Amino acid sequence: MEHLLELRNVSKTYSSGLVNTKSTVALRDISLNLQENDPTILTVAGESGSGKTTLAMLLLGFIKPTTGQIIYRGKDISTLRGEEKLEFRREVQAVFQDPFAVFNPFYTVDHLLAVPIKRFKLAKTKAEARDKMDEALTAVGLRTEDVLGRFPHQLSGGQRQRINVARALLLKPRLLIADEPVSMVDASLRASILETLRNLQRDHGVSIIYITHDLTTAYHIANSIVVLYRGGVMEAGNVDTVIKNPQHPYTRLLIDSIPWPNLEQRWGDQEIIAREATEAKTGCPFFGRCSSASDRCKQPPPMFEIEKYQTASCYLHDQHPKIDPDRLSDYLPV
Ligand code: ADP
Ligand code: MG
Repeated sequence: MEHLLELRNVSKTYSSGLVNTKSTVALRDISLNLQENDPTILTVAGESGSGKTTLAMLLLGFIKPTTGQIIYRGKDISTLRGEEKLEFRREVQAVFQDPFAVFNPFYTVDHLLAVPIKRFKLAKTKAEARDKMDEALTAVGLRTEDVLGRFPHQLSGGQRQRINVARALLLKPRLLIADEPVSMVDASLRASILETLRNLQRDHGVSIIYITHDLTTAYHIANSIVVLYRGGVMEAGNVDTVIKNPQHPYTRLLIDSIPWPNLEQRWGDQEIIAREATEAKTGCPFFGRCSSASDRCKQPPPMFEIEKYQTASCYLHDQHPKIDPDRLSDYLPV
């Protein structure tokens, strides 16, 4: 089967500091893929600092991996030029956390939507452009007459975030990278925005990588989940299986702290500190916080197959078969 997107052993290390250069491992050897013909919602979950935004930036081509490759429809995205690059820019869209971020306060919503229509030459006439705007706004549950002609400050946070989604949708993307899209939206509006994303996947065939620190929203929206800690995959699989029956001590810790079923509750607001490169080379990233840790955890734990759609990187499961980490996606149902 063809891949829409493929990450091959992607790692990202940041270097910072001019005098004493310090390097931080933000993402460690991630291999993942999404199928071309099966739109799905994949959640990437983890606390603050686990490498989620780094992954989003890599997927969008905004930063380059330190090692490994990101392949979009058969081509390494770092080699895309000209028409191909424009096509990638159209087909892979982003919605970020801050619903204000892409708004210039001096421009109306019309302007915000007209810019991509122009840039990607989506309409030949004003009327056609207007139809496209209508269509996109309707798809995200907004009424044209409520938002067109308005300035950002005249809209609610929820409306602004819907407009961001509409803007992405205008371009008929194949993949949407949504990095904490509802974390700054009022709790009362969160569920309906997530429902909108769900519709995009179901009715418009858009695959979504839903990045969140909030397992409850992941549970409601996603098909599959990858749990990150300090840039490494701790557990992955079917979202229902992983959340109802977590197998990695880290995932258990996260899930035990949620009073189910409460969509308002958050977890993981506290920043975890990524490890420095020298420290990250060996052992389980969760070693320091794990109540089940033993000496063997100083060696990097392999991924073990717990069931058809569940895999965890933890020696507690060494009675199960090891899996090749490059085949992680085999454990992610669509
Ligand atoms: P998340 O989105 O899960 O909170 P990030 O991808 O933003 O995580 O960050 C992962 C780790 O990489 C964190 O420790 C963060 O401090 C570090 N980091 C992120 N961006 C940079 C950068 N530009 N330079 C140096 N370190 C960074
Ligand atoms: Mg982030």
